[in-house]
Amino acid sequence: MHPFNPYAFSPPDFASLAAKSEKLGKLVHRIPFPEEAKAQDCTEEEEEESNSVYVDFKDADSSIALTEAILEHDFGIHVNLRRDRLCPPVPNRINYIAWLQDLMDQSTRIARLISISEESEEEDKRPAKRTKQHVDPIRVLDIGTGASCIYPLLGCMLDDWTFIATDVDPDSIEAAQAIIHDPRNQGISQARYSRNRLINLINRIHLTLRRPEDTLLLDQKDIESLRLNAISWPRMEKGLLYHVAMCNPPFYSNEEEMQALSRIKIQGPSAVCLGSKEEMTYPGGEVAFVTRIIEESRNLKDCVL
Ligand code: SAH
Repeated sequence: MHPFNPYAFSPPDFASLAAKSEKLGKLVHRIPFPEEAKAQDCTEEEEEESNSVYVDFKDADSSIALTEAILEHDFGIHVNLRRDRLCPPVPNRINYIAWLQDLMDQSTRIARLISISEESEEEDKRPAKRTKQHVDPIRVLDIGTGASCIYPLLGCMLDDWTFIATDVDPDSIEAAQAIIHDPRNQGISQARYSRNRLINLINRIHLTLRRPEDTLLLDQKDIESLRLNAISWPRMEKGLLYHVAMCNPPFYSNEEEMQALSRIKIQGPSAVCLGSKEEMTYPGGEVAFVTRIIEESRNLKDCVL
């Protein structure tokens, strides 16, 4: 795990989450502490909490309840995950946000150095955008955001990022919209890892439904067609469209490949996979998906940090 991942040194506290979430509480399994290890003079509730608790990751309802409980109690976001779409493991998805934070921090540091050297060396012709733009609030394109729009949720609750998030699956976009517009997801968060942060998903996550034949990266026209206002997506100078694009691509070429690869895992899959065919497969698999992004990026080379 990335060292800045809040779960790197302290994994999700299943017992405490199960105590707060009725749904998870009914699904976890409890291993009673040995009699001699029990704290003395503790109430029944304390005794119940001191039991060690585990979650059956091979059970769909348990995995869903755990992700919902983590998002609610550790990040202040209420979600009702669909049973027929991917259930994102939160600590794993945070790693990707943390790696991107590293990348952004590094470019900011490099930008500062360039900017200092530009001041001292008039002849330096490096583009000015690299010295100015990426100290702005980070703007991210999340390609294939899924029904949970997990990366935008985490990017908003762990940092001040703003997202355009795409998907080709109308049901996923609808489910993600429901999360963003849920009245419980407004106001100040009091949750463990996002305390005192303003939950402002409506102004910071902009969902857009794409067609499979559309480009994966969005260009200037695509962004203009979203008609975002200047507060939620301020115009960037020097033709920049967004700072960074991210995606968790569909991995497999087809369902047969997905099943065949799952069968050869030596220990079998460690968790249930709720991914739909649309989420998990793409002609040519992840290599084709990412290759397409790389190829498209040639047209946008000066527009993305
Ligand atoms: N980001 C989510 C979902 C990843 S699954 C998570 O990490 O849990 C991959 C997603 O890519 C699916 O939601 C799928 O519908 C979407 N997708 C597939 N083809 C796409 C395309 N051409 N453009 C945008 N999204 C696409």
